[in-house]
Amino acid sequence: MKNILITLLFFGTLIPFETSAQKTYIQAGLLIDGVSDEPQRNVTVVIIGNRIESIERGFQAGSQADEVIDLRNSTLMPGWIDLHVHLENETGPTRYLDVFRDNDADIAFKSSVYAKKTLMAGFTTVRDLGGSGVNISLRKAIDVGYIPGPRVYTVGKSIATTGGHADPTNGRRKDLMGDPGPEEGVVNSPEDARKAVRQRYKDGSDHIKITATGGVLSVAKSGKNPQFLEDEVRAIVETAADYEMHVAAHAHGDEGMKRAVEAGVLTIEHGTYMSEEVMELMVEKGTYYVPTITAGMFVAEKAEVPGYYPEIVVPKAREIGPQIVNTFAKAYAYGVKIAFGTDAGVFPHGENAREFGFMVEGGMPAMEVIQSATSVAAKVLGMEDQLGSITPGKLADLVAVPGNPLLDISVTERVEFIMKDGVRVK
Ligand SMILES: [Zn+2]
Repeated sequence: MKNILITLLFFGTLIPFETSAQKTYIQAGLLIDGVSDEPQRNVTVVIIGNRIESIERGFQAGSQADEVIDLRNSTLMPGWIDLHVHLENETGPTRYLDVFRDNDADIAFKSSVYAKKTLMAGFTTVRDLGGSGVNISLRKAIDVGYIPGPRVYTVGKSIATTGGHADPTNGRRKDLMGDPGPEEGVVNSPEDARKAVRQRYKDGSDHIKITATGGVLSVAKSGKNPQFLEDEVRAIVETAADYEMHVAAHAHGDEGMKRAVEAGVLTIEHGTYMSEEVMELMVEKGTYYVPTITAGMFVAEKAEVPGYYPEIVVPKAREIGPQIVNTFAKAYAYGVKIAFGTDAGVFPHGENAREFGFMVEGGMPAMEVIQSATSVAAKVLGMEDQLGSITPGKLADLVAVPGNPLLDISVTERVEFIMKDGVRVK
């Protein structure tokens, strides 16, 4: 009896809602739709449910039953997409000890805070490029609405080779080091590589991340040595394709980057010592470059704070950090496809929009920078028919900033309106 009553109530509210279809009219002084090269002035974006219905000329208000949002002094854009975040953790002098103290529940509580900060900075979608696997549970919790956060596409755990950048036992005492295998994301042959990809699929990862070279923050000597053989990367890329997953490759050094691009990864992350030869190869293969300039700037700054990083990390942070912005400028000028990503977590979550300013400083026009964080990033995720532009039929993920970001990109750090999936969150 009780069940029947609940069912009736459910339909009682649902049916009238669907037939009356309340609309939201968002009046925007300036519209950057994510795909057009010119902005539009004085338009109204009409939302029904979680979809963009139409874009009308002038400021429209619909009927009395409809909601009107006045953003006439603002610029409306598609919700931003950050292709490189780590929602499970955040920088801090205790970070290297946290690994030994935190249970999954601790990580889950922390990550829920970081996810909210990310969304409230205007990033309605992210690609999480590696953690312990709690990021998969985080994605589920956000999807069902338990906690606020961006749409999450996650790789779960990264894949490395023994002693490689994402080997979770690097720098430990021998009895704590053990010999982690493909299940933990450590591979040493094409067979291991296939098993690791299939394990990620079984765990619920959306995509695959590999650490093709050394990295800055791992407890290891080199930040740039190649750490995979090409047949291992090839096995990962081919296996991932069977599950409709793409492969993102962390890479600082040129040789490891070259092997990864040759083997067919979709994105190169950081790309610090990218040679012209690799740039040419990336243009030819259509590989995207995700620069993460903000992280590079942050680690270089913190390397000067005594005790912030372990000793072995400091010289790498000093050298690699500032180099990324030069590489970005060269790669852009060379014609490499650039997709927006910050490596948030290496610096505090919620500061992701700083990347916009660094990219403009690096020589990329503001309109292209915004496209790299909207339509271009949506394409990397294979979601360009749903996300990344303000066009009829797309999901209603929107963000607005005061004034005009094409004249002053720093306004992206002062978001005043956010809508995710048709729901206003700010
Ligand atoms: Zn990263």
